[in-house]
Amino acid sequence: MYPVKTPWLVKRLYPNLLWNHSRDQRCIYVTFDDGPIPIVTPFVLNILKQYNARATFFCIGDNVNKHPDIFEQVKNAGHAIGNHTYNHLKGWRTEDKTYLDNFNKADELLHTNLFRPPYGRIKKSQIKLLKEAKPDLEIVMWDILSRDYDAKLSPENCLKNVLKYTRNGSIVLFHDSWKAFDRLEYVLPRAMEEWSRRGYSFGVLS
Ligand SMILES: [Zn+2]
Repeated sequence: MYPVKTPWLVKRLYPNLLWNHSRDQRCIYVTFDDGPIPIVTPFVLNILKQYNARATFFCIGDNVNKHPDIFEQVKNAGHAIGNHTYNHLKGWRTEDKTYLDNFNKADELLHTNLFRPPYGRIKKSQIKLLKEAKPDLEIVMWDILSRDYDAKLSPENCLKNVLKYTRNGSIVLFHDSWKAFDRLEYVLPRAMEEWSRRGYSFGVLS
């Protein structure tokens, strides 16, 4: 189980991945994985709009293929798009060639230099392959994991965790997925409200 706050040791093991941005700017980077899907993704777009905030969506290629209209809504609202493979593959359990092919299949739809490995699990050999295929690729992890997918976590505690650890430059991970929606629906509006009150601006990864 991943902790809410990414341990420094993990960051040290993978220094060529992006874990957070500059701690000097009062800016945070909100990210959403696993969409786009009906209801949940439009809910997220609506909340972001209320705060005039932009975010980054790491999309599953298969979902983009199924819901092209929702994908268009995300792009038209000015949010950044990232690749999250076509079939949400777990790198540690996947052959390198299969992983690269699945990345490329999603890239044909997404056209982005941002990538986040599903489950945060990727082999060093796969990082190397992806960077060879796409030299300007930025592999984005996170320093704040909301654990919004965890049905055992109450919405209140999910919110508390997120607010406790977020600081300048944080990359915060949420999911626009059904699994996360019970918590996301509660947490996102409240977190956005509190972050705004604390004076954060909302940046996109690029
Ligand atoms: Zn995912």
